[in-house]
Amino acid sequence: MNQFVLPTAELLHSRGEAQNAIHERAAQVTRSRFGHTVFVRAVVEISNFCRENCLYCGMRRNNRALKRYRAKHEQIADLLIHHRPESVTDVNIQAGEDPVAVREVALPLIRTLHQHTDLGISVCLGILDHALYAQLKEAGATLYIMKFEMANPVHYAELQAPGTFEKRIAHIHHLAATGWNLSSGFIAGLPGQTDDELIKNFSLAADLPLDGISVSPFIPGDETPLSSAPLSDVNLTLNCMAALRLMRPDRVIPSISALNLADPGNGYRRGLRTGANLVTINLTPSELRGDYLLYKRDRFIMTEERILTAIAAEGLIPSSQSLADFYRAKKVNGKHVDQRQAGAVMKPEAP
Ligand code: SAM
Repeated sequence: MNQFVLPTAELLHSRGEAQNAIHERAAQVTRSRFGHTVFVRAVVEISNFCRENCLYCGMRRNNRALKRYRAKHEQIADLLIHHRPESVTDVNIQAGEDPVAVREVALPLIRTLHQHTDLGISVCLGILDHALYAQLKEAGATLYIMKFEMANPVHYAELQAPGTFEKRIAHIHHLAATGWNLSSGFIAGLPGQTDDELIKNFSLAADLPLDGISVSPFIPGDETPLSSAPLSDVNLTLNCMAALRLMRPDRVIPSISALNLADPGNGYRRGLRTGANLVTINLTPSELRGDYLLYKRDRFIMTEERILTAIAAEGLIPSSQSLADFYRAKKVNGKHVDQRQAGAVMKPEAP
């Protein structure tokens, strides 16, 4: 049985005073665990080629209207070595599921960054051969981000999410077992998602060997079969973030840019008040990022200025420790220390 306190449907749909109380508790738990610092990473989106066909994602292979690109690793390396904002301690290298870009762009880029910077290196590159994961790790990446998307295998198959649910979970376990730090996550408010399914995401998230966890609001993506589905309510995502923080106080939770699509101008800052302790500055070259189509053609780009303004407005400061170093320090004798093994489980009270 899951020993963590799972949220109820009532909590996840709460509004008004009950909602404020949960958000405040999540913020307090975050501050007592991580202080007033937030990790600041950059993201670079190196390829929008994708062999998958997720119904919710604009980069799906059947989107013939999308101009596909692969970045030049030399250009991205130059940008990150010579022109990155001072507050950035880590970089996340992201792409559609594109093994060619992994070999031709990600691997040389990681080797160069590892040699010339002390940036922590994360990758979010989808399901790959085990040998490619090993090469990425050997090159210097330490954190893999692989969202499980949703915990219901039937819904997973219906939405043509990457590979199969079983394969995605097996790869998450493989990555953890081979020494990666790991972050995962799910989408809140997907068309057809029931409350039971939403809550199952929490029990799966609690059980997986993760260091970080994220939740994204479902955004009806341009050029996808779900483009006319309703946008998910930002409150549901924020309540999920708060519940994740209360369930697992030790995990790193990002405030993700899609929060600003779900609640223009406010969503991102609300995420920082609801348990998030990681922000992401988008450094993808401007000539490429318009075609990295996750949600909308008209992207809301989290620039350095927007990020630093948001965290200062929330009374927070950039962490001088990188996410990679933070995770490294959490490992004892090379093994990730899970709170369950340490026996320190925090039980949230009912709001
Ligand atoms: N290809 C890699 C993978 O499979 O992990 C990484 C890139 S993938 C495009 C990044 C994430 O975007 C997915 O894991 C999914 O959760 C999210 N995403 C894509 N379309 C979305 C949508 N319409 N609404 C919310 N999240 C979405």
